[in-house]
Amino acid sequence: MVSRVIPVDEFDLVIFGGTGDLARRKILPGLFRRYLAGQMPRGSRIIGAARTEMDDAGYREMVSEAVAEFGGPEKADATGLADFLAALRYVAIDATGDGGWSDLAALMRDGVVRAFYFSVAPSLFGDLAERLHTYGIADRNSRIVVEKPFGRDLASAKALNDTLAAHFNEGQIYRIDHYLGKETVQNLMAVRFGNVLFEPLWNSHYVDHIQITVAETVGVGGRGAYYDKSGAMRDMVQNHLMQLLCLIAMEPPSVFGADEVRDEKLKVIRALQPVESHHIVRGQYDANGDTPSFRADVENPRSFTESFIAMKVNVSNWRWADTPFYLRTGKKMKGRASEIAVVFKDLGHSIFEGDTARHRNILAIRLQPNEGIDLQVTIKEPGPGGMRLIDVPLDMTFADALGDDAEPATDAYERLIMDVIRGNQTLFMRGDEVEAAWAWTDPLINGWEARNDVPKLYDQGSAGPEDAMMLMHRDGRRWRDVKA
Ligand code: NAD
Repeated sequence: MVSRVIPVDEFDLVIFGGTGDLARRKILPGLFRRYLAGQMPRGSRIIGAARTEMDDAGYREMVSEAVAEFGGPEKADATGLADFLAALRYVAIDATGDGGWSDLAALMRDGVVRAFYFSVAPSLFGDLAERLHTYGIADRNSRIVVEKPFGRDLASAKALNDTLAAHFNEGQIYRIDHYLGKETVQNLMAVRFGNVLFEPLWNSHYVDHIQITVAETVGVGGRGAYYDKSGAMRDMVQNHLMQLLCLIAMEPPSVFGADEVRDEKLKVIRALQPVESHHIVRGQYDANGDTPSFRADVENPRSFTESFIAMKVNVSNWRWADTPFYLRTGKKMKGRASEIAVVFKDLGHSIFEGDTARHRNILAIRLQPNEGIDLQVTIKEPGPGGMRLIDVPLDMTFADALGDDAEPATDAYERLIMDVIRGNQTLFMRGDEVEAAWAWTDPLINGWEARNDVPKLYDQGSAGPEDAMMLMHRDGRRWRDVKA
């Protein structure tokens, strides 16, 4: 296979929080894979910066262990790993004090891209941004990468935006939503805007409804305290599901440029109608034998936080009038599956005698597992016996379709980090998008918090509360099966 990987410019990437969970699980193993793929030029450096006292050798050992645990099949490349580790440095730093900052300043080089990954709690973003300037470490070409959660409501998101804007302009700020880094999500845009087939049908004349599902089998894990203050709406809908909805609903941008794409997404968020309370179902997973309930997991017996949410959303514009978007996401569901399904309208009239079945085209975009796209089409059932129609998927699982020509799977994080180095913001959320998203979710959240809305209990390993099924049934529709 001829590699199509194009190396990025030489860089120094500082990871604040470089010893943390996210750095060890995602950022560092992802960078290792990019290194092996030849995308990270020799001479580029990754500088871990965190509170723990250690030297370069100690950091290399920590990263080597992280790669062994989370590195995937590539971790077996011992020579590659040794070369990669040589590109690592470490500085012990105090984000809220002065310790370590002069050391970091002394390490930075001129003439290479400087990027700073804020993989720390958002409460430290302001301290980091300020010190990067005070110590002359960041310049006008430097980039900063910030992690979710980006605020917990409109006011806090605005405050965070203002804090960053005091030291960096919008063109330097990369707000990560790793859903946008998924191969299929980018493919969704390629399919929509690179084919003549879909765009003419992409509207309420032909699309009956759209379903967006992000189902997880895991519970809150060790994040109970955080999750209890967040819930599915803040943790998943306000960012990931909203971004997916935008990519489906947006108008074609004039070019595939960062601001052109983000302008169109912003228009969608602004066109979202307020959701009526009977179009929202909130759920909480119940105990199952010895397996604890959500309330036990978050150690709050009176928690009203939702671990599941389903909602019917209307986009108020010409393209989508009368085509609802149904969103749902939850923990401890029966399968780990994320997909977007564009369900087209029924055929108006069938010319085939005796054909009483409902034939529908469905374009399903799978984010996980098995990233790919399939299009359900109606064909004649093979064999004799007359014209019997069946619905089959035209499967476009990338690994199958591209065979040996497929690039090895890349994780969303590594792809997005390479975009940061390239200076491409297309797949990152702009400040005004984030604020518009909170402006839409705030009244909903405030509403149920004010009235102490009690989430419906659902069985672990199920598809969520019964009411979520009813949300669809009332409209004569049904959720697609959540498969593992
Ligand atoms: P973590 O608690 O595992 O690590 C925090 C890191 O910050 C450590 O390296 C620690 O040394 C450093 N740190 C803390 N206080 C510091 C200080 N005063 N000065 C310098 N360094 C300091 O956290 P994490 O799970 O890696 O998460 C980091 C960020 O990424 C958080 O904002 C989190 O919400 C976000 N995030 C994490 C995940 C995940 O899967 N872990 C997923 C999405 C978003």
